[in-house]
Amino acid sequence: MKSEGLILILSAPSGAGKTSLCRELFKTFPDIKESVSYTTRTPRVGEIEGEAYHFVSHAEFEDMVKENSFAEWAMVHGNMYGTAMYTLEEARKNGIDLVLDIDCQGALRLKEQFDGGVYVFILPPSMAELRRRLEHRSTDAQDVIERRIARATEEIKEARWYDYIIINDDFAVACQELASIVTAHRRKSSRMIEKVGKLFVI
Ligand code: 5GP
Repeated sequence: MKSEGLILILSAPSGAGKTSLCRELFKTFPDIKESVSYTTRTPRVGEIEGEAYHFVSHAEFEDMVKENSFAEWAMVHGNMYGTAMYTLEEARKNGIDLVLDIDCQGALRLKEQFDGGVYVFILPPSMAELRRRLEHRSTDAQDVIERRIARATEEIKEARWYDYIIINDDFAVACQELASIVTAHRRKSSRMIEKVGKLFVI
């Protein structure tokens, strides 16, 4: 029997560096897959249907909610986002490790109704640094930045119930820490036993 895949849930306030950390994680572990969520948000330039997201209408999204097709869903910045149950079930069944980049409301819903995920929260080193990063990187208006900071202040309170917390101060260190979490879960005896059975008589 194939051992179950790891479901790795990553959340972070905007500006904590989650996207860059994810990119490095996929380079380190090319066999890890990214969950493709459903969203009602309009595609940004260059975003292709089925790659970053499945782009659906409000009506389609609501139908999926009614049909209980989502393992979790949430409203983020005025748009709906959701992870389809089949995405998680197929990955698990096929022993594929899957990363979910989802907000804390969705992560909490998932934790309440889906067993066995590994929850990682990524933090900036300080609120001052978060502000600096947001002001530095974006062309957003000051009120948008203030809204992101207010939201980050609330989101950071959720870090306590995650399994792991990574403080993204030194990017290389944060990458190593995230990779260590994946490696530790891949070395669980429940994951290793199939391989061990091929190497030894057990
Ligand atoms: P963006 O629109 O910038 O790609 O994503 C905005 C936010 O939505 C990010 O914080 C991301 O983590 C969150 N998000 C993306 N997909 C999902 C999802 O399936 N469920 C939930 N709850 N949040 C999501």
